[in-house]
Amino acid sequence: MSVFEHPSFDNHEKVLFATDEQTGLKAIIGVHSTASGPACGGCRMWTYPSSTEALNDALRLSQGMSYKNIMADLPIGGGKSVIMKPAGDFDRVALFEAFGRAVESLNGEYISAEDVGVSPADMMAVRRFTTHVVGLPEGKDASGDPSPVTAEGVFRGMKVCIERALGKTDLSGVTVAIQGAAGHVGSYLSGHLARAGAKLIITDINVDGLERLKAEYGATIVGLDEIYDQDADVFAPCALGSIINPDTIGRIKAKIIAGAANNQLATRDMGAEIMKRGIVYAPDYVLNAGGIINVMGEIAGDFDPAWVQGKLTGLEQTLGEILDQSDKEGRPSNVIADEIARQRIEEKRVAKLA
Ligand code: NAD
Repeated sequence: MSVFEHPSFDNHEKVLFATDEQTGLKAIIGVHSTASGPACGGCRMWTYPSSTEALNDALRLSQGMSYKNIMADLPIGGGKSVIMKPAGDFDRVALFEAFGRAVESLNGEYISAEDVGVSPADMMAVRRFTTHVVGLPEGKDASGDPSPVTAEGVFRGMKVCIERALGKTDLSGVTVAIQGAAGHVGSYLSGHLARAGAKLIITDINVDGLERLKAEYGATIVGLDEIYDQDADVFAPCALGSIINPDTIGRIKAKIIAGAANNQLATRDMGAEIMKRGIVYAPDYVLNAGGIINVMGEIAGDFDPAWVQGKLTGLEQTLGEILDQSDKEGRPSNVIADEIARQRIEEKRVAKLA
C-alpha cells in the first residue's frame, strides 16, 4: 500500500496510523491542511475490507474537510479520521479511549468530532484522553448532534438550486428523491421538505425508519436501487459517497442533485457529465457545511445560535456565487468550487508562513 503515491494523496501535512493491540484500535488520521487553523473533521467508524480502503477514505475525506471549512470561511483547517471497525465483539468505550490517546498525540493539530458510525457518546470516551474533541452531548458549549444544522443547510441550499433550475421560490409540487432518508441528516431534511410542501420519494436500508417517514409525511418508499430512476425534480444523496458514477448518472432524471453525503461524485469528471445533462449540481462540501459550522460554534466557545444562522446564510450566498460562475463560464460547479477552495487555502498557507 503506497501513501505518497496514493491517487488521493494531496500533499497532506500529516497522516497518522494509530494502533492499539489491547482494544483492537486501527485508525488513520489525515491532517490535510492546518493553513487556516487546527485540522478539524469527524471520525468515521466503518467495516473497511482492508486498510487500503480506509486510507483512501481518510485522505479523500480530510481533503474534503479543508475545502468545506475554507468555503464556509471558518478559522479551521481540514482533517478526518477513520477507525476500522473491529470484527466481532469489542469494548467500544476502550476503543474510543485509545482513539482519544491517538488524537492527543497530535497536540491539537487535529480536532475530532463524530461522523458516520460514531455518536456523541463515543466522543465523551475520546474526551477522557484529549481536549481536542467537539460534538459533545454535554458541557458548557456542547453543540451536540450536528445533523439538524447540516439538514437545515442542505434544505436552504436546495431551495437556491430549485429557484435557479425550476424558477420556483416555494416547494409545493416539487418532488425530492432522498437516498438515506432514515439517517440523521436524511430524516431532518425530510421534515423540512415535507413541511414546505414537497413530495418525498425515499429509500434506505433502515426499513423501520422509512415506515416512520411514510406515516409522518406521506412519503413514497422505493427500493435501494430504484431511487436513481425516479421522476423527481431533485435527487438528494444523503447516505454514502461515490453514488454519482458512470452506472448511475444516465438514470437520474432530476434537474438538481443536492444532498448531504460527502464525496458524492465517484470521480471529479462526473461534474462535467452532470453539466452535460443540464443538471444543477450543488457541490457536496459547500452544501453540507452546516454541521461543521455548528461544531465551530463549540470550538470557539460561547456557543451562539445567531452566529450559526448567519453562517448558513453565507452558505446560500457562496453556493449562489459558484452556480453563477459555473453558468457564466460553462464549467462544472464542482470544478469551480475546488478551484476557489484551493486558491483560498494557498492564500492562507502563504499568509501563515509570512
Ligand atoms: P447516518 O448513518 O445517520 O445516515 C445514513 C443513512 O443512509 C442511514 O439511515 C443508512 O441506513 C442509509 N444507507 C446506508 N447505505 C445505504 C444505501 N446503499 N442506500 C440507501 N440508504 C443507505 O449518517 P448521517 O449523519 O445522516 O450522514 C449522511 C451523509 O451525510 C454521510 O455521507 C455523511 O458523511 C454526510 N454528512 C453528515 C453530516 C452530519 O452532520 N451528520 C455533516 C456533513 C456530511
